[in-house]
Amino acid sequence: MNYILESKELNKSYTISKSNRNHVLKDVNLKVNKGEFVSVMGPSGSGKSTLLYNISGMDRMTSGEVIFNGKNLSTLSEKELSGMRLKNMGVIFQHIHLLKNLSIFDNIILTAYLAKEKSRKEVNKKAEELLEKTGIAELAPNDITMASGGQLQRVGICRALINDPEIIFGDEPTGALNSKASGEIMELLADINNTGTTIFLVTHDIRVAARTERVLFMLDGKISAE
Ligand code: ADP
Ligand code: MG
Repeated sequence: MNYILESKELNKSYTISKSNRNHVLKDVNLKVNKGEFVSVMGPSGSGKSTLLYNISGMDRMTSGEVIFNGKNLSTLSEKELSGMRLKNMGVIFQHIHLLKNLSIFDNIILTAYLAKEKSRKEVNKKAEELLEKTGIAELAPNDITMASGGQLQRVGICRALINDPEIIFGDEPTGALNSKASGEIMELLADINNTGTTIFLVTHDIRVAARTERVLFMLDGKISAE
C-alpha cells in the first residue's frame, strides 16, 4: 500500500532543563492514505499540536521516522524540508498569521511567489479561483483587519491551497469560530477533500472530528485506536 504519510515509532521529547525532558509523543505509528480526510482527537495537552508539527516537518522529531510521499523527512536538509512544506503541504491554524499591511489577495499569493512555480498570471488566476470557491471573492482587495474570524480562516485556506499541495494539515482550524462558522469551514474542507486533497486535522472538538472520514484518538502522546 502506498501511503501519502506514515509515521513509525515517532517520539518527541522537549528539553525543559539539563536534567528534565518532557516526553510528549510516544511511539506514534500512523498511516494516512492518499485522499483521506483524517482527524486526531484528544484532550488539551495530549500532544496533538506536537504530532502535527513533527509529521509536517515544522519541527524535528527525537526518534522514529516520518515518511511523506516516499521521502523520509529526517534525511532532508532544512532547505529541502522547507521546499517540501512550501510546495507539497498546506497548513491551517486556529489563528492564522497574516500580514496586516497586505490585502487579502496579496496575503494569499505571497507563498506562490516564494515557491516560484507559476507565472504571475497563473498565480493570480489560481487565487481568484480559490477566493471564488471559498466564497470571499468580493473581499480580495480588502484589508485583513476588516474580515471576520470565519472569513480569515477562508483566507487561510486559500493561502494553504495556492501552491496545489497534496496534503492540508490543520491544527484546531475552527477553534476560534462559533459553531455556525465552524460548520461552514468543515463543509469547505470536505469539498476540498472531495477534489483529491488529503486532509489531516488535529482537534479537541468532537464536532470537528465527527465530520472527518476517520478519527484517531490521542491520549498522553499515544494514538490509541486505528
Ligand atoms: P495539544 O495540542 O494536544 O494541546 P501539545 O502538543 O501542544 O498538546 O502539548 C503536549 C505537551 O507538550 C504539553 O505538556 C505541553 O506543555 C508540552 N509542550 C508543547 N510544546 C512545548 C515546547 N515547545 N517546549 C516544552 N514543552 C512543550
Ligand atoms: Mg494544540
